[in-house]
Amino acid sequence: MKILKTSPSDLETYANCPYCWLLKAKGKRQAPTAAMLFGSRLHKAVENYHKEVYPETPEEMQKYIDEYENLYTQDYQVVEDFWSLPLLDTDITFNMKVDLVKDDFLIEHKTSARPYSQSFVDVHRQITAYSWAWRMLYTEPEQGIKVNVFLTNPKPEDDLIQVLETERTQDHYDEWSEWVKGVLSGIENDEFEPNEHGKYHNFPECPFYKDE
Ligand code: SF4
Repeated sequence: MKILKTSPSDLETYANCPYCWLLKAKGKRQAPTAAMLFGSRLHKAVENYHKEVYPETPEEMQKYIDEYENLYTQDYQVVEDFWSLPLLDTDITFNMKVDLVKDDFLIEHKTSARPYSQSFVDVHRQITAYSWAWRMLYTEPEQGIKVNVFLTNPKPEDDLIQVLETERTQDHYDEWSEWVKGVLSGIENDEFEPNEHGKYHNFPECPFYKDE
């Protein structure tokens, strides 16, 4: 299959389950999981905070925003903005939505039941993609990269927001670009087998569908 555009999450979808990617490409609807819905509401609440838009914040979000206010002031360079650029040396458009740029730091928001480990963040491909895009667009490195993990099931002694810092080097980009080429080759060669061991079995059309 020939594609004209993709995104970091689209590539991850293929890596997780090629059949899932195909169903999405055909416009089939995925049943949203509770975690996905929570993530969207959280991103919106944080965006509203920076943009000083004050609709009624859902009660379940307010405690996160209260803690977030102690970590980040409202001023920003970029909030929930779209970046678009050619993917490596292909004619495929690479689209992404950037959560936050502040003080030249690239900042990602994640939601998770459990804290992230530093080693996980240090090799997270989506973050590598954002950092690569930054350097392509701005031609110089970001000041740093931060990942805010909004914990949905924190221990009583934990903060609600875990903040991790990481960095990306040419080695990360080299490894990532080889991985991207592998994904693009699978799509081009119509390799779309379901992965029964994949995450998020939420495509009702698929035999491996699981109702949450
Ligand atoms: S339900 Fe599971 S196996 Fe089926 S498309 Fe979705 S992720 Fe893949």
